[in-house]
Amino acid sequence: MSTLIELTGVRKTYRSGSLEFEALRGIDIRIDEGEYVAVIGPSGSGKSTLMNLLGCLDLPTEGRYVLEGEDTSSLDEAALAAIRNRRIGFVFQQFHLLPSMTAWRNVELPLAYAGLPRPERRERAIAALDKVGLGDRVDHRPGELSGGQQQRVAVARALVTEPALLLADEPTGNLDSRSTGDMLELFDELHASGRTIVLITHEPDVATRAGRNLVIDDGLITIDRTTTTGART
Ligand code: ADP
Ligand code: MG
Repeated sequence: MSTLIELTGVRKTYRSGSLEFEALRGIDIRIDEGEYVAVIGPSGSGKSTLMNLLGCLDLPTEGRYVLEGEDTSSLDEAALAAIRNRRIGFVFQQFHLLPSMTAWRNVELPLAYAGLPRPERRERAIAALDKVGLGDRVDHRPGELSGGQQQRVAVARALVTEPALLLADEPTGNLDSRSTGDMLELFDELHASGRTIVLITHEPDVATRAGRNLVIDDGLITIDRTTTTGART
């Protein structure tokens, strides 16, 4: 397995006025291609901060982040934006769909930013919606879909560019238990088909579905363990 993510000595300090807060205090992690990793920890422990760094939405204050062999600290904003668009798929707790657009139009957006012609965009968006079980809802708007279905549209949007990494921050946080189960099954399938997934959660039940758990507490990784799920596969 080749290494997809390598963080070395990563620190993140937030500054507002004269106040400083060190949200990450020295993180070292290696994640291989094809791994399914859950990052778990209490509220305020630094999970979203870590996700923002992994997603190139923010840069470390100190330390190195190498993604697919590329040291991201040497990249300018345009190069980081290209990585976010092409190599990383994001899923958030709030689905972040555009309410006036149909499902397929939401899903094709990353391809539009990448400059693909419209017929190909539509074809790929519909294929991605098929993959998440929404092939019969492509012309529905978010308001016409359940929460679980909206989150599946968001997953289709995250996958449509065939990213190297799927990053999900509390993806089941706004879902009922049944939709949560469906979403976790979808992540299982994506993992089985070779996707690399980093999922952030504060729910132990969700974390046990991943093969590896990283526990973060007060800005530090305190536990890095293979779960029984991981040991089985
Ligand atoms: P989690 O996602 O685990 O709940 P976060 O990564 O969002 O935690 O936040 C970690 C810590 O950093 C918290 O104490 C939070 O208040 C602080 N923090 C997060 N974002 C900012 C910011 N933009 N400015 C200042 N402090 C922040
Ligand atoms: Mg958070």
